[in-house]
Amino acid sequence: MARYIFVTGGVVSSLGKGLTSASLAYLLQSRGFKVRIRKLDPYLNVDPGTMSPFQHGEVFVTEDGAETDLDLGHYERFSGVLAKKSDNITTGRIYNDVLNKERKGEYLGKTVQVIPHITDHIKQFIKNESSKEDFVICEIGGIVGDIESLPFIEAIRQFANDIKKKNALFIHLTLVPYLKSSDEIKTKPTQHSVKELRSLGIQPDIIICRSERHIPFEQRKKISLFCNVDIKNVIETVDVRTIYEAPISFFREKLDLQVLNYFKLKSKKSPNLNPWKKITKIILQPKKQVNIAIIGKYVELKDAYKSLDEALTHGGIFNKIKVNLIKIDSEKLKIYQVRNKLKNISGILIPGGFGKRGTDGKIEAIKYARINKIPFFGICYGMQMAIIEFARNQLNLKNATSTEFGKKGLAVIGLMHEWNKDGNIIIGTNKDLGGTMRLGSYDAKLKDNSLIKKIYKLKTIKERHRHRYEVNIAYKDKFEKKGMIFSGLSPDNRLTEIIELKNHPWFIGVQFHPEFKSRPFDPHPLFSSFIKAAKNHK
Ligand code: GLN
Repeated sequence: MARYIFVTGGVVSSLGKGLTSASLAYLLQSRGFKVRIRKLDPYLNVDPGTMSPFQHGEVFVTEDGAETDLDLGHYERFSGVLAKKSDNITTGRIYNDVLNKERKGEYLGKTVQVIPHITDHIKQFIKNESSKEDFVICEIGGIVGDIESLPFIEAIRQFANDIKKKNALFIHLTLVPYLKSSDEIKTKPTQHSVKELRSLGIQPDIIICRSERHIPFEQRKKISLFCNVDIKNVIETVDVRTIYEAPISFFREKLDLQVLNYFKLKSKKSPNLNPWKKITKIILQPKKQVNIAIIGKYVELKDAYKSLDEALTHGGIFNKIKVNLIKIDSEKLKIYQVRNKLKNISGILIPGGFGKRGTDGKIEAIKYARINKIPFFGICYGMQMAIIEFARNQLNLKNATSTEFGKKGLAVIGLMHEWNKDGNIIIGTNKDLGGTMRLGSYDAKLKDNSLIKKIYKLKTIKERHRHRYEVNIAYKDKFEKKGMIFSGLSPDNRLTEIIELKNHPWFIGVQFHPEFKSRPFDPHPLFSSFIKAAKNHK
């Protein structure tokens, strides 16, 4: 039977519950156990798909096409275990399911209540598809004390009871601040947070204290005493220089050992921290650097392009070079500024995006990359913009556009039902955009003798998608005559998956999101190749 580890947070959010869970998963795996990680999010959205990246950071897409919390990206990157639809749930989805059941009369006339109906549904989710796992780590979003998280806390309390407490472990991650004025480390917020948790019926077994500096023995003792936790289970996590140090730091603090001790389990093998040490060294002691511009709408929020930033870093690890991410706000990028802003840049990347705002600067930047032979990487929306740029400036189709921007113009990009076989648009058949997203993993066939085939060294690839609009295939021949190669197509040849340019060292656009599949120990070939091209660019 699986053992369950619940990770809650206290005092403030953004303490790194996701990274803690992901690091613990790696360490347990490395000791020979099978681990799954799940995220329970307290907000009311049914999934994060409709949330703005400004609000919630990136939406991470799983192989099976779920739009999930970005923490699932950390889980995949750290543990290598592919996340599934069934690994992320929100309050919104739970209520949605319960209310649907209620409408169908499945509660047989009973009063439907938070306890037991909502909590039962949460418990079912936690247990779902976990019989083959040694450990299931469940991270509860938000912090203890939030109104929204109450049903989750109640559900995990009941769950631990249901499966017998010895099979469930509660980890509480809190902040232990350092006060400069008095030169002191303060344990009070942690005490309060644990008090709050205990008032909800949960006594933490391990407390992880996030702190700017090392926590002296005296303060650990205090936390142990006031919070009723064995001193060995008061674990510190001091700010790391790069996230890749997190597993090393938790190993040093014996987090994984304390978890095994709790469950009275013996390690099956000794963990291997060498890969983390190796990449940490490359990241912290780089010999060379390369500047990559990311031109997007959501650059102000650090987490809005999380997987992308990670994948570019992985590309840097592969090439043993530090990648400086220069984020440029596309909405503020004026056409006349492009040349100047991109002066010291060795690679230009346009990431995924939605809507018309900020397109002019992006299109100009693509033109600049194309003409000046600067490595260019267009992802999803970025590829669609590259198509529009090429149509306008190389095919002289000045009104080329995407139907995402309105009904006027020549739809070189559009919803599939909007084009007929001559490429003329038929607009207005379906106003409802919901449910028209192409989500999850799809195949693409790669063209012989193309750059993309050289990069992947494969005939067919599988990559994750998240978009509504597609390249209008009716224009393919026109584009190809002018030097654009449609080097990746869907198996039925209808959908454009990859484009590249003939007379350019590295100009690639992909309709999918390769960043979701890149791993620190297994960098995605597209990112390794892009960074290599940028490194070689003078
Ligand atoms: N807005 C575009 C579409 O829906 C691109 C989406 C994206 O970049 N993920 O097709």
